[in-house]
Amino acid sequence: MENITILGSTGSIGQSTLDVVRRNRDLFNVFALGAGSNADVMIRDCLEFEPAFAVMKQEIAAEKVRNELKKYPHVRTEVLSGSDALNTVASVDECDSVMAAIVGSAGLVSALAAVKKGKKLYLANKESLIMTGHLFIEAARKSGSRILPVDSEHNAIFQSLPESEQLRIGFCELNAAGVSHVLLTGSGGPFRDCPLDDLRRVTPSQALAHPTWSMGPKITIDSSTMMNKGFEFIEAKWLFNLENDQIKVLVHPQSVVHSMVQYVDGSVVAELGNPDMRTPIARVMAYPKRISSGVEPMDFVKLSGLTFMEPDYDRYPCLKLAIDSCWNGQAATTALNAANESAVYAFLNNKIAYLDIYKVCAETVAKFCSDNIADVDSVLELHKKAESFASQLVTRIQK
Ligand code: NAD
Ligand code: MG
Repeated sequence: MENITILGSTGSIGQSTLDVVRRNRDLFNVFALGAGSNADVMIRDCLEFEPAFAVMKQEIAAEKVRNELKKYPHVRTEVLSGSDALNTVASVDECDSVMAAIVGSAGLVSALAAVKKGKKLYLANKESLIMTGHLFIEAARKSGSRILPVDSEHNAIFQSLPESEQLRIGFCELNAAGVSHVLLTGSGGPFRDCPLDDLRRVTPSQALAHPTWSMGPKITIDSSTMMNKGFEFIEAKWLFNLENDQIKVLVHPQSVVHSMVQYVDGSVVAELGNPDMRTPIARVMAYPKRISSGVEPMDFVKLSGLTFMEPDYDRYPCLKLAIDSCWNGQAATTALNAANESAVYAFLNNKIAYLDIYKVCAETVAKFCSDNIADVDSVLELHKKAESFASQLVTRIQK
């Protein structure tokens, strides 16, 4: 029985993870759940999974969960609040593995706490790697923590690599393994075919309508700008130890091929499936075995076709900015992540226009890309500075 802590349990990935647990109760015991403010979903999940701990971001939400659970004396869940408690449930001895699925920079410290204690880490929170890259991988090396990629593209690449490389995530030697390069696919989002001029008038609800995947709001906006693919480019660099010429991005509207590995002999190995995150979640949780995830098998006869194209950087300037930041260095990607977070929430709250997301990010990266980053404290400091600079840009644009 594996004792799993699920951070971000009330969100899209968290709920899919609980569904995989639900289907495999003989293999997994929910040790702890952690979330932001959604007390109602937390209460429902505590009643079903009876974790030893439930952690809410704010005490007020924890109080609500605690009071409701008192009505069910057989449920022994201890309800806590705050980031220290999140770090604790991700790192105590009783916990075997952690699903890191808090959204954004808020997910970094708890994921890192798990890594430092050598936990098996199912990594959905890509922002951790965007913010800390080498430091995160180095922490895993020191503790012996095993990182398994949940993000569907990275999970597909992981599955398409030889076992020798699957066993050394963070330190792969792809040249020696006969890999030419990896091909990172992305749907291109809802605005792939719209006239470029119309992007100026895009509303949050239009950007939230992803054509193939159902996800939380932040990553859905990131997918529409392809900042998400840019983040995944950076994430892939760190997970698979990639050089500049070992990674290419392809737009693939059907989201059936979740990414591929091109070998030097001409072979291409890919992972295909329906766009449902329960597949990569089940893959990492059961690795090296396979378990049922509840995902429907692919019906190839019903597929209308698979198409691929080069990304158009005029349409997706955020993708280009992220790729440039990737090779620019850690300060650039840390600043990019902070700026994007501020800009995306400002757009969702109707404070700035869709195309301003790029402007805020580009200006913030230019301002901070030469900063020095030596450790996690300096990452957190730069994150704060970049976030505050980006918020000022938002206010200036608003006026
Ligand atoms: P979501 O918005 O649906 O859920 C986010 C979760 O994080 C919620 O449970 C929320 O309560 C929690 N949370 C937010 N702030 C918190 C805080 N300060 N403290 C504690 N908990 C907090 O997001 P999601 O779509 O599930 O994405 C989660 C992560 O997984 C993101 O990093 C995203 O990039 C990554 N990811 C998601 C998908 C997907 O299909 N949804 C795919 C690949 C990667
Ligand atoms: Mg992805």
